[in-house]
Amino acid sequence: MNDTIRIDEAAGSAGQAPALTAEAFREAVRAKLKYAVGKDPSRATAKDWSMALSLAVRDQVVERWFESTKASHAGQKKHVYYLSMEFLIGRLLNDAVCNLGIEAQVRTACAELGIDYQAQLEQESDAALGNGGLGRLAACFMDSMSTLGIPAHGYGIRYDHGLFRQRFHDGWQVEEPEDWLVSSRAWEFERAEMAYLVKFGGQISFDGHGATYWRADETVKAVAYDTPIAGWKGRHVNTLRLWASRPVEVLDLGRFNHGDYMSAAEKTIRAETISRVLYPDDTTAEGKELRLKQEYFFTSASLQDILRRYLEDNDDIRKLPEQVAIQMNDTHPAIAVAELMRILADDYRLTFPEAFEITRQCLSYTNHTLMPEALERWNTNLFRKVLPRHMQIIEWIDYHHLAEVQGRNLPVSLDNIRIIEWGSEIKMGSLAFVGSRRVNGVSALHTELMKQTVFKDYHLLYPDRIVNETNGITPRRWLYECNPGLRALLLEAIGDGWVDNLEKIEDAAKFATDASFRDKFAAAKQANKVRLAAEIERRIGLRVDPTALFDVQIKRMHEYKRQLLNVLETIALYQAIRRGPGAEWTPRVKIFGGKAAPGYQIAKRIIKLANDVARVVNNDPIIGDRLKVAVLPNYNVSLAEVIIPAADLSEQISTAGMEASGTGNMKLALNGALTIGTLDGANVEIAERVGPDNIYIFGLTADDVAGLRQRGYNPNATIDSDPTLKGAIDAMVNGTFSPDDHGRFNEVADRLWHTDWFLVTADFQSYFQTQRTVDVDYRDKTRWTERSILNTTKVGWFSSDRTIRGYSKDVWGVEPNF
Ligand SMILES: *Cc1c(COP(=O)(O)O)cnc(C)c1O
Repeated sequence: MNDTIRIDEAAGSAGQAPALTAEAFREAVRAKLKYAVGKDPSRATAKDWSMALSLAVRDQVVERWFESTKASHAGQKKHVYYLSMEFLIGRLLNDAVCNLGIEAQVRTACAELGIDYQAQLEQESDAALGNGGLGRLAACFMDSMSTLGIPAHGYGIRYDHGLFRQRFHDGWQVEEPEDWLVSSRAWEFERAEMAYLVKFGGQISFDGHGATYWRADETVKAVAYDTPIAGWKGRHVNTLRLWASRPVEVLDLGRFNHGDYMSAAEKTIRAETISRVLYPDDTTAEGKELRLKQEYFFTSASLQDILRRYLEDNDDIRKLPEQVAIQMNDTHPAIAVAELMRILADDYRLTFPEAFEITRQCLSYTNHTLMPEALERWNTNLFRKVLPRHMQIIEWIDYHHLAEVQGRNLPVSLDNIRIIEWGSEIKMGSLAFVGSRRVNGVSALHTELMKQTVFKDYHLLYPDRIVNETNGITPRRWLYECNPGLRALLLEAIGDGWVDNLEKIEDAAKFATDASFRDKFAAAKQANKVRLAAEIERRIGLRVDPTALFDVQIKRMHEYKRQLLNVLETIALYQAIRRGPGAEWTPRVKIFGGKAAPGYQIAKRIIKLANDVARVVNNDPIIGDRLKVAVLPNYNVSLAEVIIPAADLSEQISTAGMEASGTGNMKLALNGALTIGTLDGANVEIAERVGPDNIYIFGLTADDVAGLRQRGYNPNATIDSDPTLKGAIDAMVNGTFSPDDHGRFNEVADRLWHTDWFLVTADFQSYFQTQRTVDVDYRDKTRWTERSILNTTKVGWFSSDRTIRGYSKDVWGVEPNF
């Protein structure tokens, strides 16, 4: 039996899905099960079938992949390199199947083989090689770059353990290691020959004739693992290349032969530690050093790989910027500025000024946060110890840059533009800014605040450098794949043009007032809610009424995202229902999902609070179905794919000025949820597009927040004057929710009473009132559905395809092929 599938060459080169029959595919899966998995159908487990299925689909992707690689070599087009410490790609099987357009054949083949396609999908582990929005953005961008036919590589780290798996023990977050590699191997190819050496520590010497030598203390090998990422209709396939850290020598045989087995293995363990886990706890000195090594490790391997590929087809290193655009996703890869200079100067013998110019033409930087504590800084002693040559180069850049600026007589403070502060800390945001061609913010508001705050002085010096590229999401994963009901309705109503040109979805806006369309739209939402209700029961044993309003807040647990505001409103609503259970209440299910960083104590306590409140509310017979609280553990991409299509209300309630963009807000709106939110991040732009009648905006603006903080906010007066708020905070500390430990939430309450930096109390009244308007509005189902349709159809601009077109034009200087 032949285990490969013949691809119709003509169809392939025309950018069409290959002519694959269900029979051919079925036989391919059988063959994979037998020859690649090594199992007989009668003994195969669900995991075996899932592996066989994935491998058969992968063959289809590989065909397209080779064509794409050949085409981009032949085309000699500028290539984009996306460097990111995180890629939150999630599961890949259904993504590949949908993008290749072979869903019908695959489903038929599965039915004939007697296996359930949906169940197979759930066998795949969720590759959580990231924390949240930043990593998911990188994954959406990979999808869009393939869809647009832009030759691109994503570069990151192949962590053995991605983000921890979250469990609740007695309502407290417990972190367990994630072992995605156990079952995700189907999608990656190890490239043992694609390996680069990465050095750390040691001494620098100069030979007096311009040559520089770096004698390192430690050297590890970065080994490539490639995952193909197929774009829509398989027209183009790019590569996500993740680096694993390995020892240069497999084993210290000398020690081994002396019987010293443990220390013989030591180097291996030390080397492999670098790609062991995502974000090691960096509160210890060892943790910080490991983190710095991780950043340099993947950046260095990626740059070496980029130069190797460039030199395959080109010989003049000075023309690098004509062929290469490198994007730094946040400051984690900002060491690229010094590393590219080092390679150009030390290996290719360019002068520093020449190397600096080329570097500044190739690199660009995306800023993701204005919070000072989140902007990376490295202690110079640590830095010099780990990267002695880079320290010298950064000192040169700092000096050279200041000298360049001093001649210009502009009203900037030199202290504000130094890269090395007080000689003791390197500001990576500054290094990235100075070493970049373009610097972008991720929403209109965030970019504006960047210009006014952290990069104010830099903006004066380089007024053309900062640009805005508002984030986006891929409509393939975040509608086509995760919401089959809505997908089918849209295909029927307006065809499939929206899938790779999402602004076309607006063609369906006219159906908002069409009763028959509205009924189908509502039915699709209802089916998604039934599916989520079943998932809630399966995961936490809670039964919820699927006709209730599903009110969703899913995102990392962080004080600035203000889950606490939502929990306080939940408590206040609970108290109000108890006081008057006979009144007309709109049944509501509050759904929370999100992980807290392991060392972030207060965020973990807020998770416990949400769970304590949930236990009391859900078991109070007076409340019944009027209010339920579902706190779902282990929020990740796969769970998002079930929750988002079922949401009625999307909580985007961060302190204004603190959420750079948000992308969860876009996914939820696209799936028909109405947003309740502050004028923060991309909420501002969502509000402009859906219109004021179709969104609930409340609370302080970014300007209000800045003003209030400057004047000094006193939460006492606010709390004392608002009995609803005071009642909710009092219940938090009087043991209503923690009868076993009355003091459990004292610290949370104290923060609200004393500083309330995130202005939860300042926005409470406005938020609570707005929620009551939501209650009333939700009862008018026809009107609600109409507005839900207008959300889906008016947010087409938030496709990551649009974002990538923006980067292509304003930042990279490349032309999409499709
Ligand atoms: C989209 C997404 C995020 C980002 O959500 P925000 O609400 O923008 O913070 C985080 N995690 C996962 C799994 C996502 O899919």
